[in-house]
Amino acid sequence: MFADFDDNLDFETNILNAGAYFRLSVSHPEALPIHMATAHNVEDLDDLQKRYDEKGFCYNRNRNPNRTALIELMNYVEGGEDSLGCSSGMAAISSALIANSKAGDHILSDKTLYGETFEIFRDILGKYGVETTFVDFTNIDAVKANIKPNTTILYTETVSNPLISVPDIQAIAAIAHANAAILIVDNTFMTGALVKPLQLGADLVVNSLTKFANGHSDAVCGAVTGKAELIKQIYHMQILVGTQADPFTAWLTMRGMRTLDLRIKKQSENAAALAAALDQSPYVLKVYHPSLKDHPQHELAAKQFGQYFGGMLSIELPEDREKMNKFMRGLKLCHYAMTLGGYRTSMAYPAMSSHSDMTKEERLAIGISDGLLRISVGIENTRDLVNDFANALEQAYGK
Ligand SMILES: *Cc1c(COP(=O)(O)O)cnc(C)c1O
Repeated sequence: MFADFDDNLDFETNILNAGAYFRLSVSHPEALPIHMATAHNVEDLDDLQKRYDEKGFCYNRNRNPNRTALIELMNYVEGGEDSLGCSSGMAAISSALIANSKAGDHILSDKTLYGETFEIFRDILGKYGVETTFVDFTNIDAVKANIKPNTTILYTETVSNPLISVPDIQAIAAIAHANAAILIVDNTFMTGALVKPLQLGADLVVNSLTKFANGHSDAVCGAVTGKAELIKQIYHMQILVGTQADPFTAWLTMRGMRTLDLRIKKQSENAAALAAALDQSPYVLKVYHPSLKDHPQHELAAKQFGQYFGGMLSIELPEDREKMNKFMRGLKLCHYAMTLGGYRTSMAYPAMSSHSDMTKEERLAIGISDGLLRISVGIENTRDLVNDFANALEQAYGK
C-alpha cells in the first residue's frame, strides 16, 4: 500500500506524503482531486452513524476531503494531535482565542504582534469583557510579573513583526502552565518546518498558511493545531461561525506546502546571506535577523530553531523619504507587496502599513523608525539577490 507518513523517515520525505493523499480516491491519482461537493450521499442510518463516529464526510462546512487532507498534513508538520483548516490566518487566530475565552478572563500577550491580532484583543475580545495586557515577551520577568489569578491565555509569535525578536517558548510555556493558563503561539514566520512550538510546550499553534506555508501568494488560508480536546472545542465554534477553508483553497495550500521544506530552508539561507551583506553596507544603519551574532536573542534562536533562522529580516535606512523612494525604485528583484512568505523577495514599510495607526512617537517607543523596511526573502539565487540590494543602495545613497 502507498505511504502516508512514517516516523522512520525524515521530515523532508514525510512532508511530501502526509495527509490522506491516497485514501481519498479509488483510482489512486498522483494529485489529490478537488472535492467541491457540498454534501456526500449517505447509504443508510448505520452509514450515517459511521460517518459521525469516524470523522467522515456529510456536509462541507463540517468536513471536506481536501480540508481533511490539509488537516492531516498540518498535524504532521506542526506535530499536533489535531488541526482545523481555516479560511485565513485571522480566522484561525480569532477562533482559537474566542473559543478559549469567556467574560472576566485575562489574556497576557506579547506587545509586538501582527496588527490585526492586536485588534482582535482590543476591539473584539475587549467588547465581550476579556481584558488583555501587552508586555515584551523577550523579558521573562515582565511576563511573570503580569500574570493575574484570572489569566487564562498567554499569546505570542515565534518571531515578531517587524523587529524580528525571538521569545523563549519553553520558558513562557512553563509560566503559563504554572498558572493553569494555555500558551498559543503564532508560527507564521517560521512554520513547523523550522520550529514546532507544540514540542516546546505550547498548547495551540496558529498559522497563516497564506505566507511561507503556501508560499506562492495565491491563496488565503490558516490553521490551528494542538491537543485534540482543545481543537474539538474550537471546531465546535468553527461549525457555528463558518470559518472553514474552502476545498479549492485547502487544495492549493496543500500543493504549496509540499515544497515548504525546500523553500524555507533556501529562504533562511538567503536571508542570512542578505543580512550579513547589508550589515556590512555603509548605507544601512541597522539589520535585524536572528542569524546575526549581535541580534539580542541570537543564542536562544540558535537553540530554538537550529541552523535555519527564517526568511524574515528588517533593515533601517536613514529617514530620508526621497532616497528611500529611489532605493525602492532601484530594486529589480524585490517587490513591494502587502504580504510575505512568497517565493519571490518582497518588502513592506511598517510605518505606512502594519503600524500606520500609531503616532511617530508611539512607533519610536517600540523601535519602529520611519527608516525601517521589512523584507521577506525569496528563493532567488543568493548572489543575484545580494547584488540587487547592493546596486539599489548605491544608486540611492552613493555619491
Ligand atoms: C498574515 C499574518 C496573519 C494573518 O493571516 P491572514 O492569512 O492574512 O489572515 C497572522 N499572523 C501573522 C504573523 C501574519 O503574518
